[in-house]
Amino acid sequence: MLGLMQEQPLLISDLIEHAARHHGEVEIVSRRVEGDIHRSNYRQAALRSRQLAQALDALGLEPGERVASLAWNGYRHFELYFGVSGSGRVLHTINPRLLPQQIAWIVNHAQDQVLCFDLTFWPIVQAIAAQCPSVRLWVALCDEAALAKLPGVEQVPNLQNYEEWIGGHPSSYQWPRFDERSASSLCYTSGTTGNPKGVLYSHQSTILHAYASALPDVMCLSARDSVLPVVPMFHVNAWGIPYSACAVGCKLVLPGPALDGQSVYQLLAAEGVTFAAGVPTVWQMLLTHMAQHDLKLPQMQRTVIGGSACPPAMIRAFRERYGIEVLHAWGMTELSPLGTLCTLKNQHLSLPEEEQMQIRLKQGRAIFGIDMKVVDANGQELPWDGRSAGELLVKGPWVVRDYFRAEGPAPLLDGWFPTGDVATLDADGFMQITDRSKDVIKSGGEWIGSIDVENIAMAHPAVLMAACVGVPHPKWDERPIVVVVRKPGQELTREDLLDFYAGKIAKWQIPDDVLFVDAIPLGATGKMQKMKLREQLQGYRLPGL
Ligand code: ADP
Repeated sequence: MLGLMQEQPLLISDLIEHAARHHGEVEIVSRRVEGDIHRSNYRQAALRSRQLAQALDALGLEPGERVASLAWNGYRHFELYFGVSGSGRVLHTINPRLLPQQIAWIVNHAQDQVLCFDLTFWPIVQAIAAQCPSVRLWVALCDEAALAKLPGVEQVPNLQNYEEWIGGHPSSYQWPRFDERSASSLCYTSGTTGNPKGVLYSHQSTILHAYASALPDVMCLSARDSVLPVVPMFHVNAWGIPYSACAVGCKLVLPGPALDGQSVYQLLAAEGVTFAAGVPTVWQMLLTHMAQHDLKLPQMQRTVIGGSACPPAMIRAFRERYGIEVLHAWGMTELSPLGTLCTLKNQHLSLPEEEQMQIRLKQGRAIFGIDMKVVDANGQELPWDGRSAGELLVKGPWVVRDYFRAEGPAPLLDGWFPTGDVATLDADGFMQITDRSKDVIKSGGEWIGSIDVENIAMAHPAVLMAACVGVPHPKWDERPIVVVVRKPGQELTREDLLDFYAGKIAKWQIPDDVLFVDAIPLGATGKMQKMKLREQLQGYRLPGL
């Protein structure tokens, strides 16, 4: 017997219409590429998203065809999220930090028909336009005057400015109703191994993820929040924040291209931000800026940090110096991206602070909708004892089933997606990542998790960034070394840091060497690129070998 409730597809257009109707005056504040601060609201955003949908109809774009974006977090990019997906097309967000030839490869693989870009990325467009025959229209996210100032506009045919493109269209629109399993947006993984792979989200997966991420033990978003996603809208939909923001009606603060400590601080303070989300490297810049200028953020309550392991020193600095709660999160492009978030359970509240900290350091508990397990090399499930480490497998309605226009076999193992992360699960269901499977260091048959080694280095007051990698060793197979960037003006010797490890991890896990460098290579999403680092270290020999 079927239930007798109304059947309505879960569609992204309903998010923006809900926000416009129930939270129309709530602000969307953006720092623009032009440098100024722009103020809009949900009513305006809905109106312009409808105009954009009309423009796409006028272009004759079929349902499911791809519209690409190369853009920062800003109000026009936000409108693309709703106008493109809401009208039945697929928004393909591209990471502008990739190399032009990688971007051209992705555009061709996705067969993008329209490509919308922020002015910052004009050099990329100039470099790739001739190699991307599928693109019928290039749209500069600006007005006529700004486009006119660009050098070499005549080199790119079919180029238009966004304001003129959408401006002539009516602001009313009948959003189409269709199957909620239809594709809504597309994001390619960074491709650290092989070619990038396209993850094709659906309206259903996006809306379920939006509901889940607003939950109290996840991001805890409400109409009383002012939310700043530092995480980019060009990578995994800024962790879904634009969608959940519409569902709850929070104020949205979009930082544009300025992600340095000072610029982020200015927005956090001026716009009364209560909640922000980002990767550790961005927060490190903010913390350094705040410490240097003795600044505080009294309105900020909590921040979600994920994308790579959050060093304990960072959780401590936010909590103890600024009264800001850090929620550690884990996710991947293939998971839309949220999988776990770390909030304490009731029984943990009476534990001493240090024991609570040990829990906060974990990546957290599965959000309802995600199921997880860890397995050994034979695929056998390991016990939830907080010690047995194996590959983490996940499944759920916002986890990838297959890649877009995939060449290889589907990734699932018996319905589970293998994440490539090595993790433990404890009896309370808290998951802890010890490594990426390709980054694990195998020394004398034992595994050394590079995250532990990095976290200890990061707790040293003179260390700005630390990466632990394995290097070949004739007897032990591999030994860990730690590559360190010192904080400006700080002294630190190899011996100081090695002494600092004493008593903090087992002796055989302590790195064999410390290398000081000016910078550690960062990938397109601000994560340390260990592949590149290992390449740079190719000629390196361990001391005494
Ligand atoms: P890529 O790094 O290739 O761009 P994603 O952005 O999808 O891919 O990143 C997913 C990966 O990032 C995860 O598989 C995991 O290795 C790492 N990651 C994400 N969050 C965390 C975290 N909180 N702690 C440790 N690693 C994390």
